[in-house]
Amino acid sequence: MHIALLDWDNTLHRGYTIYGLADYLMEKGIVTRELLHHFKELEQLYLTGGISYAEYTERTCESFAQGLTGCSALLYKEAVQSYRPFNEAALYEDVHALFHLLKKHNVHTYLVSGAPFDVLNTYAEEFDLRGIFAFQLEVSGDTLTGRVSSNYGLDKERILSHPLLQAPGAVHLLSMGDAVADIPLLDHSLIPIVVGKQRLALRPDSDAIHFTGEKWNLELLEERIRGIG
Ligand SMILES: [Mg+2]
Repeated sequence: MHIALLDWDNTLHRGYTIYGLADYLMEKGIVTRELLHHFKELEQLYLTGGISYAEYTERTCESFAQGLTGCSALLYKEAVQSYRPFNEAALYEDVHALFHLLKKHNVHTYLVSGAPFDVLNTYAEEFDLRGIFAFQLEVSGDTLTGRVSSNYGLDKERILSHPLLQAPGAVHLLSMGDAVADIPLLDHSLIPIVVGKQRLALRPDSDAIHFTGEKWNLELLEERIRGIG
């Protein structure tokens, strides 16, 4: 069984999903402007070296969860559904073609991301996703508790010891990412794909595919998939 583990933000989606969603939730009166101010403060802290990248992303997710304390989980899910068409424009042009290619070659695809789970879940059927490891809000009854229940934006190497990759016959065929956090996935896969212009310190013998522009060389990817068989 061939498995693909893909990052989302800045890999398949331009920018951070959480920011667009937070803006939308504020317009709908579900979160307050305070949350957006807090996001800005955290971004400034990170840009001026006050906190690490890991801390920046972790605290951004924590403040998002806090901003939704006491909100109905159903109301939140409905808002995410209605946000989905606005998120669409942020996807890279070749994303649909990529998932079509993966499906054609019977690759089981999973997302490993720090983006909000419920947004990614709206793509589960369309992209034939087998699983989503992302940033999830803790729910108690029908209420969001204000806490984070999981965040796969950090320590992504955890996924490599997950039973799905340990199963007999499981082959980590490809991974796709844009950032340092994705390196463990890229280095573990047979076909690493780096999106964007960042130079990542991959293992020395890595034969990564680079998608640097708007148009992705999916013919090359298909050739590599066929080569592995
Ligand atoms: Mg990313």
